[in-house]
Amino acid sequence: MGKEKVKIIEVGPRDGLQNIKTFVPTDKKILFIKKLAACGVKEIQIGSFVALRAIPQFKDIKEVARSVSSLQRVVLSALIPNEQGAEEAISNGIKKFIFFFSISRAHNCCNVRQTPQESLKELKRICRSYLSGPSITLRVDLATAFGCPFSGNITTAAVLRMVDKVAACGIKEITLCDTVGFGNPRMVEDKFSACRQRFPQINFGAHFHNTRGLALANALRAYETGVRSFDTAAGGLGGCPYASGSSGNVATEEMVFMFEEMGIKTGVDLKKLLGVCFFLHKTVPQAKLASSLYQAGLPNISNHGYKTQWKHSATS
Ligand code: ZN
Repeated sequence: MGKEKVKIIEVGPRDGLQNIKTFVPTDKKILFIKKLAACGVKEIQIGSFVALRAIPQFKDIKEVARSVSSLQRVVLSALIPNEQGAEEAISNGIKKFIFFFSISRAHNCCNVRQTPQESLKELKRICRSYLSGPSITLRVDLATAFGCPFSGNITTAAVLRMVDKVAACGIKEITLCDTVGFGNPRMVEDKFSACRQRFPQINFGAHFHNTRGLALANALRAYETGVRSFDTAAGGLGGCPYASGSSGNVATEEMVFMFEEMGIKTGVDLKKLLGVCFFLHKTVPQAKLASSLYQAGLPNISNHGYKTQWKHSATS
């Protein structure tokens, strides 16, 4: 005990905002990212270099990327769907790419209009062009790893087959995503143990949505199977395109609270993080912040040593 730690990867500016229909002003996005970095978050996904008409929320991604590129002690990453996105990301100062596709053929065809095989070909092109250089890292996200809204169950064998193909491209970091909140702790254990056992060279990350309330339970199970990287969004920002009105990504503050209270270090300042939630609450009022911790505030007795109860109304 005492030396255990996890890496929290903040995806609010990307996965959180992409589900919000109203455009969030560029200066507010930049401030959001800067505030997150000031909390001690080690990695932030700042947005997506996608076609403008695909996700209008990211039409200002170049400006956002340039404005935060000088931030220190934080890795800034962005989603890139193809080589063009990668090129734009590099020229705007981004050195870590996230390439993403679904294990489910039906979901991938609906989401990015190509089969998983075609996505793999795109991934290979990106690897050939960028992975040989010294400064670019590439992470691959496998969506619907815990179930698909169209084709239902995704077997562990199907996950392993896809991980095998991605690993063969030279990728060292792979995240299994519960895109729609179908996962449960037993499934999480099965899939991550199988993956970690078969591919010990890969750094596996977990991306859980709290659509059906199981995100923290799933995260804890993933931790117990050896996973140490977790995607989260401040305030539980986001939603699920297949379940309207549902809650979004697992909330960063709840994940941080859970681990820190257990004596597992995250490096994130929880009080500052709740300040970021309050900023979101004011700035993006249309986004429902589905975070119990934000609603309740910090307890006045804590294993982590917080002395006073924190109320979001107190900092206004
Ligand atoms: Zn997501």
